[in-house]
Parts: sequence; C-alpha cells; structure tokens
Amino acid sequence: MQRYHRLTVKNFSARFLRLVGAAAIAAATLPALAQNNATEYRFTFPDVVHHVVQVEATFHNVPQQPLTVQMSRSSPGRYAAFEYASNVFEEKFTDESGKPLTVTRPDPRSWTVSGHHGTVHVTYKLFGNRVDGTFMAIDTTHAHLNWPATVMWAHGFDDRPSKLSFVLPEGLNWKIATQLYPTNDPNTFTSPNLQYLMDSPAELANYAIHTFQVPALKPGGKAQTIRVVAHSQATDAELAEYFAGVEKIVKEEQAVYGELPDYEPGYYTFLADALPWDNGDGMEHRNSTVMTSRQLGLSVVAHEYFHNWNVERIRPEGLEPFNFRDVNMSGLMFVAEGFTQYYGNLAMIRTGLTPMPRGMMGFARDISNVINSPSTQYRSAMDMSRMAPFVDGASDLFPTYFNNTFVSYYTFGDVVAMGLDLSLRVKTNGKVTLDDFMRAMWLAYGKPGGPAPGLVGHPYSIADVQTQLAKVSGDPAFAADYVKRYMIGTEKVDYASLLQHAGFVMKKRGGATLGNIYLMKKGDPVRRGQAPAGPETLKVAASTVIGSPAYLAGLDLDDELVSVGGMAINSSADVEKAIDGKKVGDSVELIYKRRGQEVRSKAVLAADPTLEIVPVETAGGTLTAEQKAFREAWLGTKVK
Ligand SMILES: [Zn+2]
Repeated sequence: MQRYHRLTVKNFSARFLRLVGAAAIAAATLPALAQNNATEYRFTFPDVVHHVVQVEATFHNVPQQPLTVQMSRSSPGRYAAFEYASNVFEEKFTDESGKPLTVTRPDPRSWTVSGHHGTVHVTYKLFGNRVDGTFMAIDTTHAHLNWPATVMWAHGFDDRPSKLSFVLPEGLNWKIATQLYPTNDPNTFTSPNLQYLMDSPAELANYAIHTFQVPALKPGGKAQTIRVVAHSQATDAELAEYFAGVEKIVKEEQAVYGELPDYEPGYYTFLADALPWDNGDGMEHRNSTVMTSRQLGLSVVAHEYFHNWNVERIRPEGLEPFNFRDVNMSGLMFVAEGFTQYYGNLAMIRTGLTPMPRGMMGFARDISNVINSPSTQYRSAMDMSRMAPFVDGASDLFPTYFNNTFVSYYTFGDVVAMGLDLSLRVKTNGKVTLDDFMRAMWLAYGKPGGPAPGLVGHPYSIADVQTQLAKVSGDPAFAADYVKRYMIGTEKVDYASLLQHAGFVMKKRGGATLGNIYLMKKGDPVRRGQAPAGPETLKVAASTVIGSPAYLAGLDLDDELVSVGGMAINSSADVEKAIDGKKVGDSVELIYKRRGQEVRSKAVLAADPTLEIVPVETAGGTLTAEQKAFREAWLGTKVK
C-alpha cells in the first residue's frame, strides 16, 4: 500500500541522487557534493565490559524550525514494534559551540530541539546486550551494531547521506564488516540515505573472513564478490567446511535466477556471529545478512541469501519504504518469507547439504501444520501475513490463542510455494517451474532497481504475482484461479497427488493420539512475563488444539496433568507411554487439577493427523523412471 513518495520533495540531495542515477548507485563512495549536508555519526566504546557505546551525532544545515530526532520503533526485516529508545541515557543536545539547546519530548522515542543555528549536536550513551538481527550488543569480544537499535535520526532528513566513524577500543584487534560504503579510512563509512543506513548493520570484532568470486552464468555477465565474515569459536577445519558450504549455496541459488544482483558497495557480506551466548536469528539486508546462533549453520545461509533477491529487491507492497516510526504490514509476507523458506530448504536438498529424506520431512512438517491447524480454515496465507507485527518477536504480557488462530507465514508460504511449484511442473510436463516464476518476478520488479541505492522502484502487489504467474504459465485462467483459491482464499491443493509425481507418498501417521499436549514444569501461573508462584508442577503450557481429544476432554492451558489412563504423568514422554498399545476410538481417563480443583474427564483417542512424506521406494513401492526424472528435475542440483 505504501510507495516511496519522499523523493518528490524538493530537496537538493534527492534531486542530485536522481540525476546521477545509475552512476551514483554504481560508485563505491558517495559523490562529494552530497556529503556537504551528511549527518555525521561517531562511535566510541568507553565501557564494553558494561555493554555501553557512546554515540555522537551531528546534523548539519538544519532548517530554521525546531528539529525532531528519534530512535526507531522497528528494524528492517523484523515486523514487530520495539522501543529502542528505552536503552538511551545521558543524552545531551548542544549547538555548534557546545551551548545546550532547548529540548521537549513529543513522544517516548523523540526529542524536539529548538534554538539552534543550523547545527544540532547530540551525544548519548546506549546499553545493548542481545546478539541477534534486531537489537545491538556490545561486549569484550565485539560490537554487534544494528542501526535502528543504535542511532537517532532526524525527521525530514531521509534523503540525506550520512558518514559513520568508529573509534575502536585499544587492544581488542577489532575490524569492521558492513555493507556501508567504504572510504579511504578503514574506520569510516558512508550511507546514501536513511533507508540504506538502517539496513546496513556492522560487526566490529576480531573475525575470520573468506572472500570469493562468483563468475557470471551468462556470457558478458559480471562476476560478483562475496565476503563471509565469521565471529565464532569455530576451528579452522570447521570454518573451511562452513565457507565451502556457503559457496555451494550461493551458486545453487544463483542458478535459480540465472544471475546475482549487482551489489552497490562492490560486494555482498555474510555477517555470521556464532557464539554460545548468541540468540538464534537471521536477518536479511540488501547487500549483507546477519546470522546469529550458537554454532555456524548453513540452512540459515540458504534462507537469508535467497532474500537478496526475494525481499531485498523483489519487495512486496507494504514493506517499501521501511517505516521506522511504526511497523510495516504486508499481506505478501507468505511470498517474502514463505517462498524464501521453500527455496532455502530446496537449496539445502539440491546441494546435498541436507539429505533428501530429511528435507522431505521438513516439508511434511510444514504441510501438516497448515492442513491440521484450525486457523487455516478461515485465515488465508495473506491473512496470516498481516499478523506479522503480532508474532515476529513481539512479546506481550497478555496471553494469545495463536496455537489455534495462527500459522506462520513462513510455514504457510513454504507450503503454497511447494504446491505451486509442483502444480506448474505437473501441468507443463516439467517445462515451467517456480524457478521460472521467481526469475520473472526478478526481471519485472527486482532487477530494474529503484530511485536511489537501497530503494525499490516497484514494490509488487498480489495482482503483480498473478500477472507474472500468467506470463510464465501461459495460462491466465490458471494464474487467476491459483491466486484466488490458494493465496487470497483458504483452499489447499492436493499435496498427496502432486507429490506422487515425484515418487513420494504422503500419509497420516494414524496411530492413536490425544493431540499435541505441550507440558512444562512451571509454577503457577505459567504465563510469560509473570513470575511463577507456588511449587513447580507439570502444566499444560499451550492451548490444546481445537477438536483434538485433549481439547474435547476439557484439558487446556495451565491445567496440571496428573494421570492419563491411570498412569501418573511426570513428563511428556509419559503421555505417550500411557496410551501406548491403545487404539483409535479407545477411551482413557484424564485426571488434572485446575485452579486447585481435581477434574476427571474421558478422552476418546483419535487418529494422529500428522503428515509424513516418504520416498515410494522406502514405503514398499517402486520408483518409476518417470517419477525418478520428475524428482531429479525438482530436487537435483541446478549447478552445471
Ligand atoms: Zn526470512
């Protein structure tokens, strides 16, 4: 729904960037003229032990009226709201001579500064100690800086460039890795505008780096440079294996699109942070990605690298431009994240980095979640996409019913993508695939670029999805039907019969079950954000699924499960043991405590609806030559 309108403002730097156009995009450093009103940031690290960075920002050529600066509420690729202003302290606003300026607070994350003479200088300290793709972290091993969590920015300055200088702490041997534009000074970088700045996190650490070239697939194409930065405790052998895996994935995904994007700073940078105290995360950016986890892993590489086309350049409506004052919402997250999820999994299988049977189990889990969730009866892939701001790392004190009302747009989109890929392959005898669709989206909306570095010129709509699908399939009626029923609507394709073409059997597990009961040892109550009270007992920690035997027997959140069929329950495994040997339709007694009262109830065991996908040849059948060829074309490597 949002398009980039800001460049219509009569602003010198914006017009300049537009006039210079492609030349400015290609240049590795910013034109000198644009630097005159560049916002300057300087970062010092007076107290890494206590996770504190000092930030100095200078805003030049400030128009006569009061200037409002603010900390962001959201970060690119993370769709929930966070108040990054909460960790700012000792903020001081002065003019060019160091004289304090008058400051008012229009809202919790903004400062309005008046009485200046064209220059506003602010210094502040900031605490940060969460290593992931959304916040920022400082410690004795690194500064992991995500800009929305770190810098104050000025309203009305979106098109202005900025210059960032780092004063590295002594004796820690830190280097700086980022997609920001390099300068002749290794500790100084630039950004052409606010959108690009916020999208360009930096890792300051004593890291390992591996650089490689990816030759073009087409004659006359341009080779691209990829840098892999790893801040980890991995051994040299582990690093070598990781770097080799990254190269394999990059080439496999290049084959889907036929080319790599042209990276504005001259290279793409993987920023891997793998330390025992890290949080698991992956965050895509235009010319880089941040990946954090306890150990170096490749499936996150396969997902994030696919984003450098899908999301970073093929960007849906609603995500362009990023709105740092609030959150973004898009009904197309299932394409942005879900199709990326599908291709990440596919790249892992195609490269052989994930064994095929295990990869298929992953697809089965996603199909199972979509088919079996009560929520997908009334919420489509587009509806789930619009819920991203409620679920993407959002934490609230109030409990939600998401176990019954939500399926991730990653999962849903993965399943929609697989259904579409297989439908196209079956319909055209393998002549047209989802790879063709992604390439068409790239050529129509990604490759043409935007009005300035970091901006996307044509964020696509669901109508655009239909247009490209009609084009590649050569069948507008098929495209209209598919979009209407499976993307906007809540219908599901027949996965079992589609998978048969590739020689896979999809079936329900079928054994007797009570339904998923998620048990945790907890005090009372078990809700997030509330301190446990009373002794820890085994409680149901998530809503039971509507229609499941446990749900129908009245079991729900916070209930203390005492026994099943006469067997005392001390762990989740005990629930399985208690119904072991029982049949679908058998009745078992549940005893549980609710709000101090004992409740006795009967549950009728149902057939386990969890889906499995197994190769026909391991399920007692024979793989035909036709199925083998179909499977090979789908899951085999595309790298020649
Ligand atoms: Zn993603």
